[in-house]
Amino acid sequence: MLYIQNTTILSPQQRINNGAVLIDGERIAAMGTAENVPCPPGAQVIPAQEMTLAPGFIELQLNGGFGHDFTADPSTIWQVADQLPRYGVTAFLPTVITSPLANIATAQKVLDNKPAGFAGATPLGLHIEGPFLNPKKKGAHKKEYLRQPTLSAIEDWSPERNVRLATLAPELPGALDLIRALTARGVVVSSGHTMATYEQAKAGFDAGTRYGTHLFNVMPPLHHREPGLIGALLSDQRLTVGLINDGIHVHPAVVETVWHVLSSRRLSLVTDAMAAMGMPAGKYVLGELEVIVDETSARLKDGTLAGSILTLDAALRNLMAFTGCTFQDALPTVTTTPATLLGLCAERGSVTPGMRADLVLLSADQQVIKTIVGGQVVYSK
Ligand code: ZN
Repeated sequence: MLYIQNTTILSPQQRINNGAVLIDGERIAAMGTAENVPCPPGAQVIPAQEMTLAPGFIELQLNGGFGHDFTADPSTIWQVADQLPRYGVTAFLPTVITSPLANIATAQKVLDNKPAGFAGATPLGLHIEGPFLNPKKKGAHKKEYLRQPTLSAIEDWSPERNVRLATLAPELPGALDLIRALTARGVVVSSGHTMATYEQAKAGFDAGTRYGTHLFNVMPPLHHREPGLIGALLSDQRLTVGLINDGIHVHPAVVETVWHVLSSRRLSLVTDAMAAMGMPAGKYVLGELEVIVDETSARLKDGTLAGSILTLDAALRNLMAFTGCTFQDALPTVTTTPATLLGLCAERGSVTPGMRADLVLLSADQQVIKTIVGGQVVYSK
């Protein structure tokens, strides 16, 4: 058993000062004030004075990191998963962007083969971004692999077959049929890389779409008479909305504005990070395209943003800086909100007895100090 002592717990619904958490195996056995949760004899103690304990972070859109790109080489998912806990990430959706369907099938197989003794962040299934995207909003996706939606192409996409989330453009012919089919199987459908009008966006929501991929990026801008997907996402309470919070993809003032509209219940911070995350500046790939990375951004030669080099803990700190919110206010955007979207909130996303012991300990300035996955300390600064 593991006993975390003298910590401030952000569950995140509750704040408990001088708290303690008891972990038995993979699960949280008890949590509360130190008086209510005494240390059992023989438990291994982690002293956590001056630290904050939060649920492990859940990342919904990650293209790679540490020099690896999941689309170029899906077999690297486990290597990246192994290193993600340094940023507080305990579960994530490896994202495969527009590429041949066979490549997606390869990534599905990779997730079936967890390496022996693996102890890192848990891949919860793929986020497949593409290939059913609008060519006018392809961003850094390769045009020749874009295709029209067909049910036969997604026959093998389901959570059981390691697909959790799929981003597509709802205005493409046949897209609504795909949205209905995927939703019925339990795959969360997202709108993105799209030219959808407000009406087309709403038709997608009515067919089952429940997420918006990187709000503001590669979709028509918000116009007061043509609200488009952005207006639909902001106004429809059924939707959870992803946002790349590096201060480059979306201006801090706009982040502050949408924070008030969406609140932490509907805002989902993502990194959309690519191979250069955790690496020095230089040249990297996203899928088959070359990406030039400097100290702050990742771009194609023509200047198009090509993912980010943001980390999820930094995305949270940015939210606090851009909006003035507290860490506790910001936390649901990477814990309960993504867990609820994926239908996993009974298992993940909060510090609750019975749930998986996926936890992060942070310093007073929100730097990750220790990360625990399934009751195992997998990262210590
Ligand atoms: Zn994208």
